[in-house]
Amino acid sequence: MQSVAIDISDVRKTFGPTVALARCTLRAWAGEVHAIIGGNGSGKSTLAKVISGVLVPDQGQVSILGKSATSPYEARALGIANVFQEVLVADECSVYDNLFLGADGLLGSNGIREERFARASKLMSELLGFDLDLNVKVGELPLSVKQWITIARGMLTNPKVLILDESSAALDYESTERLFRKMREMKAQGCAIMIVTHRIAELTRIADRATVLRDGVTVGTLEKSEITEANILSLIAGAAREREQ
Ligand code: ADP
Ligand code: MG
Repeated sequence: MQSVAIDISDVRKTFGPTVALARCTLRAWAGEVHAIIGGNGSGKSTLAKVISGVLVPDQGQVSILGKSATSPYEARALGIANVFQEVLVADECSVYDNLFLGADGLLGSNGIREERFARASKLMSELLGFDLDLNVKVGELPLSVKQWITIARGMLTNPKVLILDESSAALDYESTERLFRKMREMKAQGCAIMIVTHRIAELTRIADRATVLRDGVTVGTLEKSEITEANILSLIAGAAREREQ
């Protein structure tokens, strides 16, 4: 039986006068790709940050694999990896150091480094579609490769929940297909993957379930068979209709 990976109920998060999440409810299962969809400013990234312990909600419950986390450190320890929408890399450091930034024992023994190096090289070539020297300084690489580094960094923690916030936004079809192949592999191993995306067409290819946010409120969760462009657009557009009334 599938187990619940993320259980969020009635979460509220404000920034001063801005209500980013009003009544947000979502349940994601281990071994599924769960999409979070909504217009610009609907609260998707805020939700991703709440799940990953970066932001603490004003109200509501957030349960991660049956436990709660109140800091990014605790969330990571529970198995959450959040690949943020912002591409966060240290230009002065090598690809390798960026991949294991924050990992325990970065300066560990040679054995650990060798094992990590091999694992990371393999993953990077699967994602990129070509081999990359992990000793290269990240500052010399194009933005697209930097984005792959942030994705790989999340994957290399062997997360139980992987959150990808608009990670495919700048990828072409073939690159997206490589990302999806890896995601399918991870979900087969029981990882819950949350993807935040604007690209509705992409969802029909990868999502098992999709939660739609509108102005920080969960307006519906679609099952796989219901994930169509028309259904999503009608849930998102509800706001405009309601305002007109
Ligand atoms: P999305 O990812 O769906 O585009 P966000 O979660 O980034 O939306 O933002 C939701 C709302 O909260 C927006 O109105 C945004 O301007 C606001 N917001 C997000 N983060 C902050 C912040 N750190 N400080 C102030 N306002 C924020
Ligand atoms: Mg966002």
